[in-house]
Amino acid sequence: MQRRQEEEQGNVGDTEGPQVEGQDAMAAEVSAEVETPVAFIPYDLPAAMTGIDIPSSILQDIASPSALHAVESPTDTFINFPAATVSSPTFSISTISDLAPTDLGEEIEHGQELTATCHDTFYFEDGNVEIMCGDTIFRVHSTIVSFSSPNLRDILSQPALLRAPTPEGPPRIAISDSVEDFAVLLKMIYTPGFPARHEVPEFTVFASLFRMTTKYGLSDVRDQLIKDLKSAYPTKWEDFRTAKVLGEDVFGSPKPHPNAVLNLFEVQNVRFAIPFAAYRASTGGFLALISDKPGTVLSRHTLATTIHGMHVLQSVASHVARVAAYGGKLWVCTNEACALNAGISPIEKKMEAMGKIYDAMVGQREGGVLSTPSLGHLFCPKCTIDFSVAYAGSGSVLWEKLPSVFNASRDWDGL
Ligand SMILES: [Zn+2]
Repeated sequence: MQRRQEEEQGNVGDTEGPQVEGQDAMAAEVSAEVETPVAFIPYDLPAAMTGIDIPSSILQDIASPSALHAVESPTDTFINFPAATVSSPTFSISTISDLAPTDLGEEIEHGQELTATCHDTFYFEDGNVEIMCGDTIFRVHSTIVSFSSPNLRDILSQPALLRAPTPEGPPRIAISDSVEDFAVLLKMIYTPGFPARHEVPEFTVFASLFRMTTKYGLSDVRDQLIKDLKSAYPTKWEDFRTAKVLGEDVFGSPKPHPNAVLNLFEVQNVRFAIPFAAYRASTGGFLALISDKPGTVLSRHTLATTIHGMHVLQSVASHVARVAAYGGKLWVCTNEACALNAGISPIEKKMEAMGKIYDAMVGQREGGVLSTPSLGHLFCPKCTIDFSVAYAGSGSVLWEKLPSVFNASRDWDGL
């Protein structure tokens, strides 16, 4: 908002340097505009918000440790405690948080025995080893599980880690993964054809698969998951222009919140996909960015960099709208009904045209600023085409800056 007012009050009639036409001119404008604000280092949240109207109460919420907690220890949020368990004196919430960061192979604590339950699906009566996640017990076949991954084989082949809780029962090992993650891992191990190729699973399953295949070194499946992401999270402008499915639309139903996808990529270090994931999150606007639903809370740093990137893109759009509306620089239109008519007067009409062009670019469009807005209702047919061509040209310039705009890297090659 404030930015717009600044633009409108700014020095609008000036022309620096020689006039260039159409596509190259707009690309040059975008390039110049995007250079300036990137120097900002977005570590201080209040400073990052300068010039943006967000109530201070929201800022406090974002900065509070409790809001960040959900992101910093994601395993906590995935565990569902039955009400009876929570009230049990032997198994309080504080004991859970003590257990969350355990490493592989931690010894079983006595309190767990009392409340542990068998997993619905992966508790085989003829299994010969038990794996405990939180208060859930899986009973599996050590040969099958070991065969799937050298990491799992190593874990299961260390006798010191395995202890039988009862004399006649199988040995048991406690691990730090969430029940949901480990169940997905076992589903993959025990179910031929899962996950299906050429079919991206729903996001929660995808995220579990990603975490588990990374952690346990199941590189074939992990490579397949990365491949699934590549076309929807492009790194090249041409691929962005031709992609059939982009961003979180690639996942099976229900469609995830873009913040949740960004969080996964940050935590799992899927670096190539971070600029575009941040861009997708930014197209939802402030309300989507500050979502506090489970799994969607962005870390302080990610929130700041994403808001910064959104602000840069809006600045570019504002600049392009101003240059287009005040005319003279890109091309000259004489059509009376066209918002790009160089002769529009009085000044209020020019400002109105600029506002409409800006809104068409920045408004809550699925594709965001990078996709060409439809401006046929504002422009004459010729200008509509010329503007689209110029816009696509300037979009490619902006695309190259995307990693630095979202503070992920200097350029795409650095990811
Ligand atoms: Zn025109």
